[in-house]
Amino acid sequence: MSATSYEHLAKEGLESLGHASAAALLDQFAQQAAAENWSYSHFLGRLLEAELAARKQRSIDTCLRFSNFPYLKRLADFDFTSQPSIDRTLFEELATGRFLAEARNVILLGPPGVGKTHLAIALGIIAAEFCYRIYFSSALELARKLATAFAQNHLPHTMKVLVQPKLLIIDEIGYLPLDPHQASMLFELIAKRYERALPTIITSNKAFGQWGQVFANDSVLASAALDRLLHHSTVISIKGDSYRLREKRKSGLTSLQPNLTQTTIN
Ligand code: ADP
Ligand code: MG
Repeated sequence: MSATSYEHLAKEGLESLGHASAAALLDQFAQQAAAENWSYSHFLGRLLEAELAARKQRSIDTCLRFSNFPYLKRLADFDFTSQPSIDRTLFEELATGRFLAEARNVILLGPPGVGKTHLAIALGIIAAEFCYRIYFSSALELARKLATAFAQNHLPHTMKVLVQPKLLIIDEIGYLPLDPHQASMLFELIAKRYERALPTIITSNKAFGQWGQVFANDSVLASAALDRLLHHSTVISIKGDSYRLREKRKSGLTSLQPNLTQTTIN
């Protein structure tokens, strides 16, 4: 085979082996290799590095696509200085992803608007970056899904699908009351994930003492759920005002600033 045929084969071969990113970068890296005197293994290493990075990104994108996140917000987008009740170093530890390997639940408690959902999503994105399957749902959406599955006679299948993800995020437990059947199915889900050592992130505006109300006034069910959730867990209680309201108040002040400045100048 001629040298040109081998060059064609290199590109087509990479493509047909499914290494599209390496194929796309082949010419550029070949020119760079010649110009910068790369060794053969350096050249191959650079191609593989690009291919592996593209694959990892695709797998993260797939995890994020199936995550059901309402929006994507990261830890880097969270202003820890405006929320002094949160221990930043604790989040640095959670960001290592160790909680996923240890099957440690993360429970974020606090009033509305303090960033619970934002932080739960941020931790979910970290799990996606480890290429773990994640699923996000509000407690009510989850309870309705389970109730529909029950009504349509496929509860075991839906339960299995919800037990499976490496990380399940149940948002807003306690915002709206569950009926007794929804509460018992939610408990079953929590118990099954606990038995399989799969971590769950929970956000709630209710202190643990009020979880009886969350579980349809069944305090026995509530304490059985809490028992499982708290066994291996990191609990973060967030205090303070709603971030949105604070930002609104701040922007109210800044909209006054130009007038004040103008008045001073005039
Ligand atoms: P919660 O779930 O506690 O009700 P959210 O996470 O929904 O609160 O936060 C409300 C909004 O405020 C979101 O858009 C979130 O990104 C933002 N937010 C809350 N706290 C912070 C913060 N400390 N830094 C940046 N954004 C924040
Ligand atoms: Mg929320």
